[in-house]
Amino acid sequence: MTDQAKELGNALQQRGYRLTAARQVILEVLVASGGHMSADDLAEKVRQQAPGVGRMTVYRTLDLLNELGFIRPVYQGTGAAHYILLEEGHHHHLICSTCDRVIEFDECVLEEIERVVGSRFNFQVQGHLLEFYGRCQACQN
Ligand SMILES: [Zn+2]
Ligand SMILES: [Zn+2]
Ligand SMILES: [Zn+2]
Repeated sequence: MTDQAKELGNALQQRGYRLTAARQVILEVLVASGGHMSADDLAEKVRQQAPGVGRMTVYRTLDLLNELGFIRPVYQGTGAAHYILLEEGHHHHLICSTCDRVIEFDECVLEEIERVVGSRFNFQVQGHLLEFYGRCQACQN
């Protein structure tokens, strides 16, 4: 398994969930894809690698990962939700409202905000998904 898939597997086990062979394949495929996938796409890829893993198992595992804060659904356009991995607890997008292009970026300046709102609401922040909307360079002309 890749390191990140392993980390997710360990985190599941630490929370008392069994790391079944099916879950291992699902984590592996999710990480390999960078996490931008609809549930159906993921189920299809998992099926190619492990024909025994059913669609419902994939959906339930996604629900679990979502509950635990490892992934979040994002809705772009009218299609099915895409699940994205919160790598090290966060994930950032620039989304062009004109052409729907999604640009990923790593720079994070949100620690301060997490701290401020966390303490104001006595909320333990575990991660964030940041999306900026606007127009990409190509669409500005
Ligand atoms: Zn654009
Ligand atoms: Zn992304
Ligand atoms: Zn961030």
